[in-house]
Amino acid sequence: MSYAPSTAAGKQTAQQLADISRTLYERGWMPGTSGNISLRLPDDPGRALITASGRDKGELTAGDVVEVDALTGLASPPGQDRPSAETAIHAAVYRVTGARAVIHVHSPYATVVAHRATATDAVTSVRVERFELLKGLGLNDPTSTDLPVFPNWPEVDRIADDVAGHLAACREGPPGLLLGDHGITTWGDSLGQAKNRLECLEALCRLLVLSQSELHVSRA
Ligand SMILES: [Zn+2]
Repeated sequence: MSYAPSTAAGKQTAQQLADISRTLYERGWMPGTSGNISLRLPDDPGRALITASGRDKGELTAGDVVEVDALTGLASPPGQDRPSAETAIHAAVYRVTGARAVIHVHSPYATVVAHRATATDAVTSVRVERFELLKGLGLNDPTSTDLPVFPNWPEVDRIADDVAGHLAACREGPPGLLLGDHGITTWGDSLGQAKNRLECLEALCRLLVLSQSELHVSRA
């Protein structure tokens, strides 16, 4: 059943998700039905709206979202559409970081870096350093960062567990992560901030690829 907001905040939040979904689709970052975006409700931050599973991201409407518990990812009230298959990863980010918005896309350069830097059996990280765009990530030290790369397990809950464990142990990391052979997830205090950080990280991955130097990959 389409999302039927009971409050003005719910209606506005759903529309924000639809608008940004179309924007990112038009850039080619959410091909087909891929990618997922969530935003906590401003008047009830323990709850979030997330894009429904299997929707064309270029045609997403405010009705194509699902209300979930932000910290568990479980959908409620019942009778809604199915939330994104990757909702557990959003919930893991919310639990550990306190973010209010999470974006996951398959933007090409981040996905290439995730493809080259992943290991099949362990979390790795890619060193990003020197580029001015690092300043767009809000890091304490904007001269370098280690972008984590998680194995793309078929079981999403296993990825979510890896993400929660890694982020809890590494509070100074960047506001984003890569999923091996898969894509990128970023977060922020608002959808706008998560989108800005996504743009910076995608651009940094593009620079890494274009510079054609070896990626500095370490095992976490
Ligand atoms: Zn994905």
